[in-house]
Amino acid sequence: MLAREWVVVTDQRTGLGWLATQLWGERVLIASAVFVGFMMWLAGLHLGWVSFAVLLLVIAGLLRMERRAVEAGRRTMAVAPAAPIVEAAPPAADLTPISAVLGALDAPALLLSARETVKLQNRAAEAIFGPIPQGSDLAGRIRAPGILDMVRDAIGSGQPRETEHAERLPSETVYVVRIAPLAGPTTEPLWLLTFRDVSQARRIDRMRSDFIANASHELRTPLASLRGFIETLQGPARNDLKAHERFLAIMHEQATRMSRLVDDLLSLSRLELRSNLAPDQTVDLVPLLGHVRDSLQPLANDLGVEIALALPAHPVTVAGDRDELVEVFENLLENACKYGQEGKRVDVALSGGQGAPVELSVTDYGPGIPPEHVPRITERFYRVNVEASRSKKGTGLGLAIVKHILTRHKARLVVKSEVGKGTVFTVKF
Ligand code: ADP
Repeated sequence: MLAREWVVVTDQRTGLGWLATQLWGERVLIASAVFVGFMMWLAGLHLGWVSFAVLLLVIAGLLRMERRAVEAGRRTMAVAPAAPIVEAAPPAADLTPISAVLGALDAPALLLSARETVKLQNRAAEAIFGPIPQGSDLAGRIRAPGILDMVRDAIGSGQPRETEHAERLPSETVYVVRIAPLAGPTTEPLWLLTFRDVSQARRIDRMRSDFIANASHELRTPLASLRGFIETLQGPARNDLKAHERFLAIMHEQATRMSRLVDDLLSLSRLELRSNLAPDQTVDLVPLLGHVRDSLQPLANDLGVEIALALPAHPVTVAGDRDELVEVFENLLENACKYGQEGKRVDVALSGGQGAPVELSVTDYGPGIPPEHVPRITERFYRVNVEASRSKKGTGLGLAIVKHILTRHKARLVVKSEVGKGTVFTVKF
């Protein structure tokens, strides 16, 4: 709304000054009359003084009427534009209740006018887009063309719209952005633009489909090999007894590999089902580690690795599930023997207990793990070297199972490795 101020200037001069002002104001009139009289004199119309004065008065009257008409027109023109300036805007809508609702939302939300300007913005939106002054254009703040097109389309059609938007920084985040008309609270048409973070759901979806793809790939390889040998035994090698012996041994190995994989998959799924149930037993780790070492001694002997145990003389108890903890230490010790075989020695050290934090470390002196692989080795099916893992009867699920069990036990796994020197896996309870 624009207001116009009218200033009235009053002339307070009197006497000669007033006469001079009046004559100056009528200068056009006087000049015109003198000009008309002169022209008549030239044309030979020698009028008497009285006739000449009457003629002058008529001309003066006509000119004055003309001037008034012009001035009236000018004033109309000057006043005319004032009407649209004092435009009757609807009373400002009270957005306080909407603002309170937006403030309570944890998802970013913006209230827009039908002219695509921002009327309100909640704190979550401010965290992403920075503070947006009321009345700013949405396009000046959100550069994503997908969102702007959607907003335009929704406002144009009067229908809700939805689109997906990905932010790369500071971390990859995927939003479902939705715009919908806000029915009711004000006479002015308003639109609510909301951002729903679906990154976590997308990550889980991707992990699930990767997992299924990996699991089927791992099972397909031994299955294909089994089928190939069965066809050979039924066909070309039907009567070759020596080939029977050799092929059956390989088939047994492949079937064992498949059952190991299925066992590990079942183990993972059981752990997932119990992941939010805290273990309710108390386990003394000293005898438990002795048992694990005994069960892996035959493998260590085959590989030529010596297992050295350093255990405290007192009991070291933790809240846990005995079978699951056996699975954790067997996995770590077996990996240390298999992958650290060339170091020929594996140290197992247990410390803490009796009030002190409990820590168990498994150290090998093998080739170590290159630093870029360390953060990923607890992912399902992740292997530094797939062939090396397969040749050592690995499934790629061992450390994923370890991580799951430790999470349920509120314990952490810390991996320190130096290429060419060896690796230390530490479990911190
Ligand atoms: P796998 O069944 O292949 O052994 P794991 O989940 O137990 O699967 O281990 C994942 C990968 O981590 C292994 O394939 C191996 O490449 C690497 N790894 C695990 N332990 C060690 C270790 N002590 N030294 C070197 N590499 C290791």
